Amino acid sequence: MRILQVASEAYGLCKTGGLADVTTGLSMAMRARGHDVHLLLPGYRGLATAANASVALDLGDPLGVGNTHLLRGRLPDTDLPVWLIECPALYDREGGPYLDASGNDWPDNHLRFGLLGRVAALLTIAGPLVGWTPHIVHGHDWQAGLGLAHLALWGGRRPSTVFTVHNLHFTGRFAPEALPAVGLPPSAYSMHGVEFYGSASFLKAGLYYADKLTTVSPTYAKEIQTPLGGEGLHGLLAARHPDLVGILNGIDDSVWNPQADPFLAQGLDPTRTEERQHLKATLQGELGLERAAEAPLFGLVSRLTWQKGIDLLLDASRTLLAAGGQLAVLGSGDGPLEQVLTQAAAANPGQVAFVHGYNEGLSHRVIAGTDFLVVPSRFEPCGLTQMYAMRYGSIPIVRSTGGLADTVVDIEDAKGTGFTFVEASSASLARALERALVLYRQPEAMARVRDSGTSRDFGWSASAERYLELYASMQ
Ligand code: ADP
Repeated sequence: MRILQVASEAYGLCKTGGLADVTTGLSMAMRARGHDVHLLLPGYRGLATAANASVALDLGDPLGVGNTHLLRGRLPDTDLPVWLIECPALYDREGGPYLDASGNDWPDNHLRFGLLGRVAALLTIAGPLVGWTPHIVHGHDWQAGLGLAHLALWGGRRPSTVFTVHNLHFTGRFAPEALPAVGLPPSAYSMHGVEFYGSASFLKAGLYYADKLTTVSPTYAKEIQTPLGGEGLHGLLAARHPDLVGILNGIDDSVWNPQADPFLAQGLDPTRTEERQHLKATLQGELGLERAAEAPLFGLVSRLTWQKGIDLLLDASRTLLAAGGQLAVLGSGDGPLEQVLTQAAAANPGQVAFVHGYNEGLSHRVIAGTDFLVVPSRFEPCGLTQMYAMRYGSIPIVRSTGGLADTVVDIEDAKGTGFTFVEASSASLARALERALVLYRQPEAMARVRDSGTSRDFGWSASAERYLELYASMQ
């Protein structure tokens, strides 16, 4: 099958979170199964050079913002074809994909991602000119939502469409006046369309118009159909229930491979305690933590937002600090959370380390060098770090929600791989931390739990198969 993955991020070119890992990991796994998968991304600054891309098609000026070209290249160090949209007026600028350097949304995000959707649809009719026409167009998150609306509204013979929600919280809402600017007909602004509480939602466009919907874990698929987890879209999601399926994300086990991880000082066999101890000591040194082999080391690698429950950990961490434990946090995000973490590190030198920023290499070393990895999310569509942790032998402590509930089995079960807690409260997390401290004092039991985690297969194979079955069912 010829499959076009449409997204705003792909690992290897542009990453701010798990979405990037998924678009690349899923695409590579499908290619390994003989399918012809291509990616379509906005041509942010530097991407054309990184992808060694050249012009394939002149697209004119579809949104009236400036000349636009379709470029063809490859994901660096792979054979995965990538289409990039070159539109300097929208993409050639300093800053992130969604936010400017001061952390504010780009004021023209409706155009930046309106163009992504528009070109996704255009590519399906320009196929004969570029020698490639997809059977399936698969859009990811709100940034890709409009592509599926265009295709449905154009009607006629068209590829089948799939829309995956990686995070329902980000609804991509804009003033209704944004719609004509992105080329959608006025009729699309309706309850049966993209209208969402008085604004236009690109996410709702995907949810309403795609032929099939998926989300990234079975539990999250259920949660988003309820008022509590549905972000105001539960009615639509419940109505589309027959077309909605939850497919767990995989992890890219070539990037996250402890035995051959270029970010680690040495290869790691996660079942060998001495190797883990060595990486733990190296991490303690790198972060300025006391080099104490006996101190239980807890880690967290995350965007710093309310969703991720960082505030819960800050309150609950008293428990582990009082017991002589250490905490290593790597993340960036909301200013107030960054501030409290900075204060916590200053108040507990040698015991708490906070590294502010996005650091791929350090994220690998935290996951390899900690004893426990904490993921206290209030909601979590899938979550990846808990799976990386299990692969590397760091025992996860997670809130039982979404994909965290689907991937971590509490040690109350004989085959348990970590700790789960139900209530989104610091007291509930503190109790889970206490349980972890008890386990830490029992090296044999600790090794057993670790082995249960490392023996689980979180690779993309099973998930890629599920997506391919879904595509095949639509042909
Ligand atoms: P989300 O997509 O909601 O941010 P996920 O757990 O699905 O959460 O994916 C997060 C991804 O981003 C993981 O690959 C994680 O390792 C990475 N990540 C998050 N914060 C950082 C950071 N500060 N430095 C490096 N990697 C990070």
